[in-house]
Amino acid sequence: VHPALKTLIELQQLDLKVADLSAQIEKFPAQIAALENQLDEFIHRHEDSKHRLEANRKERRDLEGDIQVMRQKISKHRDQLYEVKTNEQYRAMLKEIDGEETNIRAVEDKILERMIEAEDLQKQVTETASHLEEEKSRTAAEKGGLEKLAKADADERDGLLARRNELAATLPEKIRNTYERIRRGRGTALAEVRHGLCTACNVVLRPQLYNEVRLSESLHECENCARILYSLEALPAASPAPGQPAVAQG
Ligand SMILES: [Zn+2]
Repeated sequence: VHPALKTLIELQQLDLKVADLSAQIEKFPAQIAALENQLDEFIHRHEDSKHRLEANRKERRDLEGDIQVMRQKISKHRDQLYEVKTNEQYRAMLKEIDGEETNIRAVEDKILERMIEAEDLQKQVTETASHLEEEKSRTAAEKGGLEKLAKADADERDGLLARRNELAATLPEKIRNTYERIRRGRGTALAEVRHGLCTACNVVLRPQLYNEVRLSESLHECENCARILYSLEALPAASPAPGQPAVAQG
């Protein structure tokens, strides 16, 4: 067996693990952002209820102010009742006062509606306020958990990277460069051959190449995908590679 092949296989296993960990590590920021968004939305709902309650109170104060103004007007008109000269004027003034009292009742109805709304809003504000601290600490705890996992993955990846670099340094430079070049281009530099097929690109190997790969005395590249080929299959003893004489025992 070619001495570099075992190292190359191990190197590829380490590189695949590193890639897996990197993919996992990349997912953490989005997960953390989603947690923060949830909390932001909760806080936003809470603030929104508070603002609506505040607006409701202001509207009620304004409506009560309107009623004050209307009452003053009515009282002024009642005083004027004593100053009118004719029955007609008197009736007209009474009608006006009547209309103003109707208006007051309409505004009072509005105030009542706002008071009912205020009860619901107050419930919402109390409800969200009571859960706010809980939501904050839950988010912080989950975020902390994710950050811990991300750190553990990053540490593990650093360890694997250190090992793969040590391992790569033991390879002859030419082989190492070939491995890195194919890996950069194709994602993986090595392909296992099984049942005569390159398992990376699914192309059938020429029988002679298949035999040479199983002999694994030298490094061969797939003629289709250019990956370095290896086989874990034993070369059948009964069928020696073409062009090579069967070795006699003894
Ligand atoms: Zn291939």
